[in-house]
Amino acid sequence: MEALFYRKLNGKVKCTLCPRGCVIAEGKRGFCRVRENREGKLFSLVYGRPVSIAIDPIEKKPLFHFYPGTDFLSYSTVGCNFACKFCQNWEISQASPEDFNVPYVSPERMVELARGTRGIAHTYTEPTVFYEYAYDISKLAHEVGLVNVFVTNGFTNPRPLRKISKFLDGANIDLKAFDEDFYLKVVSAPLKPVLKSIKLYKKLGIWVELTNLIIPGLNDDPDMIREMVKWIKKNVGSETPLHFSRFYPHYKMGDKPITPVETLERAREIAKEEGLKYVYLGNVPHEGENTYCWKCGELLVERRGFYVLRNVLTHEKRCPKCGAKQYFVF
Ligand code: SF4
Repeated sequence: MEALFYRKLNGKVKCTLCPRGCVIAEGKRGFCRVRENREGKLFSLVYGRPVSIAIDPIEKKPLFHFYPGTDFLSYSTVGCNFACKFCQNWEISQASPEDFNVPYVSPERMVELARGTRGIAHTYTEPTVFYEYAYDISKLAHEVGLVNVFVTNGFTNPRPLRKISKFLDGANIDLKAFDEDFYLKVVSAPLKPVLKSIKLYKKLGIWVELTNLIIPGLNDDPDMIREMVKWIKKNVGSETPLHFSRFYPHYKMGDKPITPVETLERAREIAKEEGLKYVYLGNVPHEGENTYCWKCGELLVERRGFYVLRNVLTHEKRCPKCGAKQYFVF
C-alpha cells in the first residue's frame, strides 16, 4: 500500500507521517522498519498484516472515562517510531514485518470482528506507523456505529492527525516524562512534538487521557511531576484523566527496581494538589483505580484491575450525591 504522507526527493523519499521525518534511500526503510522506499515511492509494509488481535476491556488501554465497562477489539501490526528501553511489547514493536508470517486481514474483516464490541482500539504498538490501515479501519468502523481509540505515544505530525481525527473518538497518550533528556535517552525521540500533539488531540475534540509510567530514579522527581501536571492542567484541562502507572523491570531495563507504591501515591497527591480532577494509579491493586467525585469525594466508579465493579454515575454524568458534573464519554 502506497503511503499517504511523504515527499519525493530525487530518488529518496521523506516520510512526513511522524516528526522523525526519515529521509529514506531506494530499497531502505524508515526508523519504524515498516515503511520502505520502492523505486522512489514510499510504501507501508504492514497494511492488512496485524500480528495481534484481541478483545479487551477499554479499562486495559487504559481509558477510564470513555465508555466505561465496554469491550474493544484491539489490534496492532509490528513497528514503532520510538525505541523505549522499557517497552512491554518490544517483541512486536521492535520487530520487522518479515519476523511474522501473518495472513492478510482486510479492514472490512477487522470491522466485522469488532461487531458486538463498542469499538476498535488501535493499540499495542504505535498506530501512527500503521496509519493507512488504521485510517481505513476507522472510517469503516464509524460507518457501522463503532468508535475508535488510539493508544499512542503522540509522535504524529499534525496533518495526518487532522486527517484521521474525524474518525477518532478517544485516545490514551503516553506522556513518558516531562524532560527532554529522558525522552532523547530513554525513548529515542524529542518531547516537544509529543506536547504539541497532545494539545492538538484536545483541540480536535478527541477525548484524551494521559498515562505516565513512573520509573524509579529516571522520571520520579516530584518537582518534574509537578511541572508536568501544571502543564496538563493549563494545556489539556483539569478534567483530563491522568494515569500514573507502575513500572516493572522489562526489556533493556531489567536492572531497574519496581516502582514503590509510595512513589505512585506521592505523584497522585501532587496531581490532586495542582487541581487535576481525576488521577489514577495503574499496574497495582489500589483504591487509586476508582473514580471519585472531584467535588465531594463520593465513590462513583469502583474498579478492580481492568474491570468495573460498580458505576453509580447518573445518565446525565453527574455525581448522585452532590450533583457535580463529571467528565465522561458514553
Ligand atoms: S513513520 Fe516511520 S518512516 Fe515515517 S518518519 Fe516516522 S519513523 Fe520515519
